Amino acid sequence: MKQFVYNALPGRVVFGAGALAQLPAELERLGARRALVLSTPGRGEDARRLAASLGARTAGVYDKAAMHVPLAVAEDARRVARELGADCCVALGGGSTTGLAKAIALETGLPIVAVPTTYSGSERTTVYGLTAGGLKRTARDARVLPKTVIYDPALTLGLPPAVSAASGMNAIAHCVEALYAQDANPITSLMAEEGIRALAVALPLIIKDQNDLNARSDALYGAWLAGVALGSTGVALHHKLCHTLGGSFNLPHAETHAIVLPHAARYNRDAAPEAMARVARALGAGDAPSGLYDLEVKLNLKMRLSDIGLRETDLERAAKIALESPYPNPRPVEYAGVLALLRAAYEGRRPEA
Ligand code: NAD
Repeated sequence: MKQFVYNALPGRVVFGAGALAQLPAELERLGARRALVLSTPGRGEDARRLAASLGARTAGVYDKAAMHVPLAVAEDARRVARELGADCCVALGGGSTTGLAKAIALETGLPIVAVPTTYSGSERTTVYGLTAGGLKRTARDARVLPKTVIYDPALTLGLPPAVSAASGMNAIAHCVEALYAQDANPITSLMAEEGIRALAVALPLIIKDQNDLNARSDALYGAWLAGVALGSTGVALHHKLCHTLGGSFNLPHAETHAIVLPHAARYNRDAAPEAMARVARALGAGDAPSGLYDLEVKLNLKMRLSDIGLRETDLERAAKIALESPYPNPRPVEYAGVLALLRAAYEGRRPEA
């Protein structure tokens, strides 16, 4: 066994169908009396219902969370949290909502109870992002790690199959990169491999029947593992490319992850053979990059960056931005290779096995 460092992050997890009913008790444990419930505009009704169920423990609802946490929204939400005298944030939603809670916590130190309704994994990481002037900047800070996470698979039944598939691939991407990250270690690798396995089995079942609660539970379990793996290791070229495409070209986060992942895995395949063997085993495939691609075809996902709004003329600029302060990566990050990777993702070609 090689030398390694394993940095476990603290946090309490309450898991299971109906677990949202534990929210008042979890707020009590934290000593929170005035929770600000956060959501995206589309989940505003759910947020208001949840706030109403908390009675006197609610400070109010802020339902303007948006993808990639625009700085203006973060500043507005911080102002609202201060004005309402909130002593805690409840993030009901996906990575966008958790991201807003993190932006509030970063400045105010308010504790977060996360109630994830997608598979993004953000709730188990100290990573936060803010977008201003067309650039998304991410960093880590222990203050933004949610104190408690309530994983209630019943809340994910309404997540449309196409969004579930893309979000699940976002979680699988965390696991894939955790397996070859610079600070990968045997513990996170166990979690990452199990996360891929759980999601790869559950997602096709969810596509067939979005109300399959067992499959929803397995997918959320996989997403939790993915979040832990992401939170305890670094990320590499794949995440850098997705941050670039999301932050500078405004592409949708989860769909971008899904499209880029098989190609990023192909770029790194020969430089990270052990990680790729684990990915392939978890997928039940002979080869990791083409196995990821085939899973996505089975999930009816969009397979081309051109399908989600990237223009061919953007490819070179995207490759250049992705090369600025690159993340550590098993294979050296160089322009021609990254451009070829992006072109393959743009055209949606199946990676050679
Ligand atoms: P999202 O939070 O933007 O949600 C996608 C859409 O689905 C939204 O319109 C939302 O209202 C809707 N939705 C969410 N849950 C639903 C449900 N159960 N039923 C019906 N609709 C639902 O998407 P996401 O992919 O979860 O998050 C993306 C964001 O998270 C990006 O900004 C990304 O950078 C960030 N992220 C951060 C980390 C981190 O560690 N900091 C990790 C992963 C993702």
